[in-house]
Amino acid sequence: MSFKDIPEARQCIRLYALGKKIKLTVVKSDRSKLRFTCSEGACPFVCHISGDAHTPGVRIKTLNDNHTCWPTFDNHVVDYSIIAQYFKKKLQENLKFKIKEMRAGLHNAFKLKASQGKCKRAKRIILETLEGGFTDGYNKLEAYAIELKESNSGSDIVINLSKEALAQGKRKFLRRNLHL
Ligand SMILES: [Zn+2]
Repeated sequence: MSFKDIPEARQCIRLYALGKKIKLTVVKSDRSKLRFTCSEGACPFVCHISGDAHTPGVRIKTLNDNHTCWPTFDNHVVDYSIIAQYFKKKLQENLKFKIKEMRAGLHNAFKLKASQGKCKRAKRIILETLEGGFTDGYNKLEAYAIELKESNSGSDIVINLSKEALAQGKRKFLRRNLHL
């Protein structure tokens, strides 16, 4: 398995460890190498990731996922910021990517059960911080409307824009009608 770079690998391993309930200890972490073990001393779990000079990206070089110790924590520690990092690119490419799909994605890839609330919060963070993905505030607003529609399924959301502002080349947000 390969990753774009060390930060991407680190993020993926963190999610993987959360799914397997492994409390990671970072043994080595620099620009080209990552090495994790399980915090429970005698456990054989080890994951080593590194790159080489000939090919781009980094790869898992060693993975012993024979995690023998008792789970030390529960899935609740997966926080929304890790989820946000993981889905940032996906949402940038597709604003309609749903919370439901985020949850299914985490479950399929890492056997992680992330709550609706956590995924929702993660999605909001992504939408708030996306740069370059939105050309102006209107697109951002549209993304919020999609999100709102999703979390209040069955409701209609109408975004009213000021005609006057549109004539001046601006899109001014007037109000949002939410019919529940
Ligand atoms: Zn372990």
